[in-house]
Amino acid sequence: MLNLNEIHKPTTLADALQFLQQPGAIALAGGTQLLANKRDDVRAVVDLSALGLAYIRERDGAVIIGAMTPLAGIAESPILRALANGAVAQAAHRSAASILRNQATSAGTLIAEPDGVLAVALLALDARVTVVRKEPRTVALADFLSMREHLLMTKVTSVMALVTEIAVPLTNPRASLQTVARTPSDKPIVCVVASARIEILRAAQNDKVARDVRIALGGVGDIAIRAGASEKMLEAQSLNDALIDQAARLASQDLMPRDDFRGSAEYRREMAVVLTRRAVNELRA
Ligand SMILES: Cc1cc2nc3c(=O)[nH]c(=O)nc-3n(C[C@H](O)[C@H](O)[C@H](O)COP(=O)(O)OP(=O)(O)OC[C@H]3O[C@@H](n4cnc5c(N)ncnc54)[C@H](O)[C@@H]3O)c2cc1C
Repeated sequence: MLNLNEIHKPTTLADALQFLQQPGAIALAGGTQLLANKRDDVRAVVDLSALGLAYIRERDGAVIIGAMTPLAGIAESPILRALANGAVAQAAHRSAASILRNQATSAGTLIAEPDGVLAVALLALDARVTVVRKEPRTVALADFLSMREHLLMTKVTSVMALVTEIAVPLTNPRASLQTVARTPSDKPIVCVVASARIEILRAAQNDKVARDVRIALGGVGDIAIRAGASEKMLEAQSLNDALIDQAARLASQDLMPRDDFRGSAEYRREMAVVLTRRAVNELRA
């Protein structure tokens, strides 16, 4: 940020949005991506820390995570630890090392890491994101991830918008988060979160049926994605080893992962199968 001339710290959303309309202005949340990237096109930052957007609360049948809530707050939140086997809390913990968790925020992480483990957990739990330009607009997380450039206008010099909240429905399904990483504190190479309601049909035969199945994967593309075909295969079916294996293989079928220093495309595809199988097995267990 060699050319940074102005820092604004508005106390209202309206002021923040106004400051963001200047050419070269950008929203500053935890600042971990902005400062690391040292972007020389940024002339002004709009610090969001005085907008009162750091909270986690229950409202309208959902857990609402304010955009400025630090990852540490999500990881330690009793509400989120109790929801869906703590998948979102665990994902926040796995998103970054401890120092970064105190600084990086929920919205900043979704934007900086759209294929990261937090995005994956939220996608598997059917989260929604509220974006404010003039009026608040709430969109499904899948739409937010695929259209974030357009929704936030981060690349186009036009009207900028802000993320204010992320809502996770309080339906409380069973969930399982699976990751593979080079070290326990490193960013996962591939991650999978599966969620479902599990109904026990015949306890004696250990016959369990999965409903509302959602499987989300990260580290296998530009953004976190749902394994729609695998979900359909498992929906309302008795979960057995053969079916779970078939669904796990299907999850990696059309993936085009990147090759990078963390893992090859081939490794990522194989891990997508392994982690999907583990996640669904854990739902059944
Ligand atoms: C040393 C270091 C190590 C890292 N290690 C990891 C790692 O191991 N794993 C990993 O996944 N990531 C890692 N990261 C990336 C890190 O997770 C992200 O940088 C961080 O999560 C971003 O959150 P932030 O709140 O700091 O966002 P910022 O850096 O403040 O912002 C990120 C982007 O989002 C925009 N933005 C932020 N909030 C809003 C909002 N409310 N509305 C609209 N736009 C907004 C900003 O304008 C910016 O474009 C690392 C980063 C650093 C610096």
